[in-house]
Amino acid sequence: MVHIDKVYINGEFVKPHGIKTLTLINPNTLDAIGEVTLCDKKDAAYAIKCAKEAFKTFSKTSIQERGEILQRLYNAMSKREDELNAAALMEYGSPISATKGRTRFAKNSFLIAREQMNRFEFKRILEDNSKILKVPLGVVAAIAPWNANYTHICQKLAPAIAAGCTVVFKPSEYSAIETQILCECFDDARLPKGVINIVNGIGEEVGSYIVKHKDIALINFTGSTKVGRQISKNAAKMIKRTILELGGKSSNIILDDADLTTAIPNALKIAFSNSGQACHAGSRLYVPENKFGLICEMLIKTIKEIKIGDIHDEKCYIGPLINQTQFDRVQSYIASGIKDGAKVLAGGLGKLDGLKGYYAKPTIFTNVKADMKIAREEIFGPVLCVFTYKSEQEAIKMANDTIYGLAGYVSGMDLEHARRVAEQIFAGWVYINKGVYEGKGVIPHIGAKQSGIGTNGIDDYLQFRFIS
Ligand code: NAD
Repeated sequence: MVHIDKVYINGEFVKPHGIKTLTLINPNTLDAIGEVTLCDKKDAAYAIKCAKEAFKTFSKTSIQERGEILQRLYNAMSKREDELNAAALMEYGSPISATKGRTRFAKNSFLIAREQMNRFEFKRILEDNSKILKVPLGVVAAIAPWNANYTHICQKLAPAIAAGCTVVFKPSEYSAIETQILCECFDDARLPKGVINIVNGIGEEVGSYIVKHKDIALINFTGSTKVGRQISKNAAKMIKRTILELGGKSSNIILDDADLTTAIPNALKIAFSNSGQACHAGSRLYVPENKFGLICEMLIKTIKEIKIGDIHDEKCYIGPLINQTQFDRVQSYIASGIKDGAKVLAGGLGKLDGLKGYYAKPTIFTNVKADMKIAREEIFGPVLCVFTYKSEQEAIKMANDTIYGLAGYVSGMDLEHARRVAEQIFAGWVYINKGVYEGKGVIPHIGAKQSGIGTNGIDDYLQFRFIS
């Protein structure tokens, strides 16, 4: 059992004022693996105070100093990469190859932010000697979910540090062991005190307190659209800037000329990415009506080939869901699909046989109507809905018929044609003939519509000022 009874605030591990505890369960084995003491509002207030104090000097550091800090953060994570992976495997249960990829992606955020910072124009002098200054905004509050802990933390910290902001971060309480090792890496990177402050705790209590605090200049939130709305509302009271990375219900259109031998395996990878707990999961599949029978046969065959359960195996693609709540949530969606008349092509209700953890059956529904709950709401589990279309325009219309706009996927042999279709999918990022999200963090990315606001680029963390 790991006991986490300290939090990282102002450059040291301190005992929190909060006394509530949470038991951490390995989702793969269901063993209790740890206990974390949760912060309360007093801890959050202390973290904000320290970040505010640190901002006075950190906001004046040079690009070179911040570049060195970003490099040290990358180095510190690299030194402990195996431990970081082991913790994520144990606490989150994502298969090893995906876990390793995410840790690499997370640490690379620091180098990418450094590159962007080096190219960034922080000051511009105009012909009449007027100036445009881009100055650090202030203390950033960052809040993240459990589905890619290192990625969320590093992708928010990196541009904030590059911009010269200090941060109070509230990660998910379900990622406490992962966060603890990450904090040890941050400590090893020898940042000025108070630049990074991490508080854990319950969202409605600690998260909400941070969001409403007068000394927070910007809120960078990743999580559900439901909580995103709440945060927007709270931020609006003080007109605080927000970056919101929210939920999705992304579409995947298989065009008539698609190479089905790659498009179908890709469709399942896209749908079941991160065991289905991916914001960008392509959970709505649109197939030409005349190929429906063939595609169903291929889906049934391919789903049987996906490796599930042995998360230490490099070829394993699907692990358990994070916890009982998430398992129950996925079951309730599968039950609602069945009740509403959708047909189970594969999977269905219940736990996967022979596995101990929170394993939902990867499920494919056909006969799905656009107004069903399973077609409209984000499930955040391994559930794919298949729809048929008669014409391409109909497919595009159905794909866009959602409140979300996070990602989109298109498969087709004629690339120019596929591009034209991709451009009509209104989403933050759209991939053509690609399996899963392969971005390297280079481009700031964010969803459209109710999937998000902002770009998470350096300029989101700066105040533009014109002096003439
Ligand atoms: P969630 O919205 O329930 O919680 C996210 C974080 O917000 C947690 O740290 C939680 O403690 C905190 N929180 C909860 N209520 C709060 C409040 N009232 N005020 C402030 N903070 C609060 O999400 P989750 O279930 O942890 O994660 C899954 C969701 O995250 C999915 O909807 C998924 O699509 C989304 N997500 C989006 C992206 C993206 O890039 N767009 C990436 C990953 C996950």
